[in-house]
Order: sequence, then structure tokens, then C-alpha cells
Amino acid sequence: MQQISDDSLDEFDVVVIGAGYGGVTSAALLTHHGLRVALIDKNDRPGGKAMTLRDDDYGYELWPIAGGPAVPSRFHELLDMLGLSAEAPILTPDHGGEFQYRHPEGTWVAVPFSAHPAIESLGDPAAAGRLPEALGASQEQTAAMITLAATVLTLPDDDIDALDPVDARSWIHGFGVGRALESYLFTLCNLLFVVAVDRLPASEAVRTLRDFFRGGGGRYHAGGYARPAEALVEYVAGKGGHFLPHTRVREILVEGGRAAGVSTGRSEVRAPIVISNAGIQPTVLKLLPEGSLPDDYVERVRALEPSWAFVGARYVVDAPIFDAPMVLRFTDDSWWDDARYQEAAAGHWPDDPLLFVTVPSLYDPSLAPGDGHQAALAGTMCSPDPESPMSAAAVERVHEAMLQAWPELARHTVRREAFTARHVAAASRDSVVAGQGGECIGIAQVLGQCGHDKPDVRSPLPGLYFVGCDAGGYGCGTHQAVESGFNVASVVAEDLSHQLAADLAPVGG
Ligand SMILES: Cc1cc2nc3c(=O)[nH]c(=O)nc-3n(C[C@H](O)[C@H](O)[C@H](O)COP(=O)(O)OP(=O)(O)OC[C@H]3O[C@@H](n4cnc5c(N)ncnc54)[C@H](O)[C@@H]3O)c2cc1C
Repeated sequence: MQQISDDSLDEFDVVVIGAGYGGVTSAALLTHHGLRVALIDKNDRPGGKAMTLRDDDYGYELWPIAGGPAVPSRFHELLDMLGLSAEAPILTPDHGGEFQYRHPEGTWVAVPFSAHPAIESLGDPAAAGRLPEALGASQEQTAAMITLAATVLTLPDDDIDALDPVDARSWIHGFGVGRALESYLFTLCNLLFVVAVDRLPASEAVRTLRDFFRGGGGRYHAGGYARPAEALVEYVAGKGGHFLPHTRVREILVEGGRAAGVSTGRSEVRAPIVISNAGIQPTVLKLLPEGSLPDDYVERVRALEPSWAFVGARYVVDAPIFDAPMVLRFTDDSWWDDARYQEAAAGHWPDDPLLFVTVPSLYDPSLAPGDGHQAALAGTMCSPDPESPMSAAAVERVHEAMLQAWPELARHTVRREAFTARHVAAASRDSVVAGQGGECIGIAQVLGQCGHDKPDVRSPLPGLYFVGCDAGGYGCGTHQAVESGFNVASVVAEDLSHQLAADLAPVGG
């Protein structure tokens, strides 16, 4: 087996497999820590599931993506710490987006929201009451909503931990906020975690909603959502590390009972620390040589459940049809618990599926040609199985719902490109277990897989760590991945300093 020919690639302190938000965060922080990092991705650019596409006219994502919490966020902290805030400015517009809700009798209402901290509106009764009023909540239900928000904001950490085995739907239902506000909260839970509300741990919901109630939602990044990932890769490369795009890792090297680097099939990149952002299941079941890990651990990993997928279409239109950078469209029937998901999987979809739409140029006008054209991304939830027929059904449902919400689309659509669970798997992780691969987030944030039950970032193989949405973080999508990147970088730095101390200890001392 050949070593990579460029001498500078022979020896690294750390190899990171995958330049998704988890991978680039850990790579940049360990670089900041003085380590020499090789970052490898099979794609031609960083960002993973959140990569940004650009052509002569447009900058946009593969699918709808925006961030939360808006401010403060771990993105702010990361970019500030590395001096990259000017390279990748964060956008938190006043007009962050709108909720669109269909009242039971059929009328739709639109309620705008700001990306600025929602906690400001909690101190302002008029602002705090706007959403409940628009949704038709009674005074008692509005008061219950305020109690719920206050509980989320003030619950001590131990009490949150104790909610690991409690499901979010029952916990929220216990406050008595009424049907419409429950639909709003369940919609948020579906969108933030892409799992069934009756399988989501209340602890994960409370932690994440607390960040959103404090920090608002609707963060975007100038130049495209992946701009921070790109800046982090430039940072790694500028400080003696190396980014290898278009390079698939085929195997993790194991020598003397520990990780020793990776093989791309044609060459090796050696390092005593390997951090995998490729997904815990592909890493354990495909990249590691058989027998590297205890059988019971491998079986536990095999049994992990993925989040649902999120599928839909990109719309390029020749007129300014959209005026909100983000839209969350829902009804009392469109949020999903497990039973509703099973019904949709059997072909019985709600009349109006839950819809999430983003329009990147309404965050950053430089992302569209400037002649009124727009690119919008729209999607809904479905099975993560890249082979499932549910993807095609979901794409059709999204299109019907888009035409109903924006009838002008029928005349102004220049291009419509569908994306399915298979496209998501191709951009991110390999499908190694039946039904897995196209998941929107990573392993599902469901009971038994969150909080204390979340997989450890340290694998049982010394020197091998997991980063990204499968281990080490909590919260919504990319924010969870960055949170994990912070945690993994500090665990690796701590393990290395222990190792160094052991290496320096006098023999027999
Ligand atoms: C349709 C859709 C909508 C979403 N909307 C939002 C949103 O609005 N807000 C939000 O915060 N999140 C959203 N998410 C979720 C978010 O994108 C992900 O949770 C997050 O980006 C995952 O980051 P990660 O670091 O775990 O890994 P990934 O982004 O999955 O990155 C993994 C990386 O590893 C690389 N890789 C895998 N195997 C190999 C290998 N063998 N060799 C080399 N490289 C490899 C992949 O190419 C990829 O770059 C959305 C996701 C989807 C699919």
C-alpha cells in the first residue's frame, strides 16, 4: 500500500473523516490547539448535508436549511474564537420568517417572526401574545403557553436530565396549551429533530427549545449556509493542516489495538487520532476492519435508529414570489407522532403536509442574480430509507402544497429539481443498515438515544472518536453538529494531554 506521495501528508496528529459541520468544527478547534490535522471528504466541498451550491447566478443549498438558535449560537462562539467572524458573517434578519397556520375551519393565517431573541418578546406581553392570538388560543391557553415557556427557560439541569425517559408529546400536553398551540409546538419539534413527537425525549426538547426561546430562530450565513464550514477548512489548511476533497476513506487503519490512520484505497494518511464524521453506523459497520470492536458494541450500533428524512424540491422562479426568507406551514393534522407517520407511510397523507421553505436570497441578496429571480427550497418529512417509495410521494405532496400556498408558482417556475432520501445519502452517509442512509439529522433523537443514552464520542477502540449528529451534542441539526465538534475537540485534547503526561512520566515513576 502506497503512502500519499506528498511528503507533507505522511504524518498528522489527527485525521478527520468528513467535512460536515461536526468534522470541520473539531478539525478547526484542534488546529487552533496546535495539532496538525488532515480533513478528508468524499465530496468536492465542505458542508456535508449543509453544503452550499453556487453557479454564475445563484447561491443556494441542496435543500431548505437555516439555523437555530439565531443568537447567541455556537456558530458565533466558534467563528469569534478563531477570528473568522469577518470571513463568514452571520445573518439574523428582523424579518426572520413566518408561521402559516390553517385554522380548523379552513382559513390560513400568517404570523411573522424575527430571528432576534424571542426572550425579548417574552418580556413584552403584546409580542408574547401575538402568536397565541393569531392561532385562536384562549386566555387560559395563552397563560399555559407562558407557563410552559417559563418552565423551559428555568428548569434546572438535573430536572431536565430526569426527563430523558419522558416523551415530549405527553410533557407538552400536560401544560394544557390547547390544540392550536400544541400543533405549533409539535411542528417545531418535528422540524427541529425530524422524529415523532411521542418518541422525542422531553429532555432534548426542553434543552433545545430553551436555546430557541432565548436565542430566536432563523440564523443564516452571508455567502451561503456552508460559508462558515468553508472558512473553517481554509483555517485548517492555512495553519499547516490539509483538506483532501473528492477523497473517500475506505478503511480505518488499526494497529496494535488502536486507530492508526485511514486508507483511501490508493494511499494512507496516518495519525494516532481518527475522528469520524461519516456516521457511527457506516464507521463501525463499514470502515473498521471486522473484529476491531466488541461484538455487543457492534450490535448496539447496528440497532440504532435513524431520524426521518426531509425531502422536497428546489424551485427557481422568474419573479419575486416569496417575501419571507423562511416559512413554516402547518395545520392541526400535519405534525407527526409515530401513528401519523405510519399512516403516511401507508399512503394516507394529511391534506396539508407540514412544509418548511427557505429562500436564501432573502437572507443575502447576492445569492440571486438581482433581476427578481429567486431560488426557493421546500420540503417535508418522510422515511430515511433511500429505497422507500415514500420519498416520491412526499415530493408530490410538497409540490401540491407549494402550488396551493403560492399559486403564481405554476406560471413562474423556471426549474424544479426534486431531492429525495437517496440524494441526502449520496451527499452525506452511506446506507449500511436496511432503511438507513437518507436521514435528515443523524441517529434519531428518540427515547433511549439522547441525553445519557446518546452514544459516547469515544469508541471502544483507543484513538477512534465520533463527531457530528450521532454523538456528543444536542439540539437542532447543524447546531448539534457544531456543539458536538466543540465537545469532541475538548475530549481529544484532554486524552492527548493524558497520553503526553503518561509518555513523559519517568519509567517506574
Ligand atoms: C433536507 C434537509 C434539511 C435540513 N434542514 C436543516 C435546517 O434547517 N437547520 C439545521 O440546522 N439542520 C438542517 N438539516 C440537518 C443538518 O444538515 C445535519 O444535521 C447536519 O448538517 C449534519 O452534520 P454532521 O456533521 O453530523 O454530518 P454530515 O453533514 O452528514 O457530514 C458528513 C460528511 O462526511 C463525509 N463522508 C461520509 N463518509 C465518508 C467517507 N467514507 N470518506 C470521506 N468522507 C465521508 C460526507 O461526504 C459529509 O461531508 C437538514 C438536513 C436535510 C437533509
